[in-house]
Amino acid sequence: MSTIFGKIVDGEIPAHVVYEDETTLAFLDVNPLARGHTLVIPKVEYPRLTDVPPEEAADLYATIHRVVGAVQRAVDADGATVGFNDGAAAGQEVEHVHCHVVPRHAGDGGGPLHDVMGQAADVPDEEFGEIAEGIAAEL
Ligand code: AMP
Repeated sequence: MSTIFGKIVDGEIPAHVVYEDETTLAFLDVNPLARGHTLVIPKVEYPRLTDVPPEEAADLYATIHRVVGAVQRAVDADGATVGFNDGAAAGQEVEHVHCHVVPRHAGDGGGPLHDVMGQAADVPDEEFGEIAEGIAAEL
């Protein structure tokens, strides 16, 4: 395995592991956005979300589901921002799928995921149908 996360899976470099099972691993982000910021990964080094096979995607979600609550309870958070940077254009730096679980506290100064683009896109109402059809056709 070639990325830093692969090396964590293989035990070549240390991490503060909070959960491990056959297919997934969760550990603290070394550069946390908040106390308790945790990453959840599939053990296999899939670069992009769409590369993860359905069974392992289900395993990944099951671990995310467990970790989100545990992280919040452990740091007494009021909520969590949970998400993936999928692809370099979206800010993904480590090419091994990883879900960020960032604990949130009321008044912590952070924004919602909607802040990621700065402002809403200017999409005309009449284009929504065509866009939805295009996505549906790809499913
Ligand atoms: P992304 O920009 O979505 O690819 O996020 C990569 C994340 O991995 C960043 O939040 C880093 O702080 C984190 N990171 C990088 N190296 C390590 C490491 N060795 N252990 C834990 N987290 C790491």
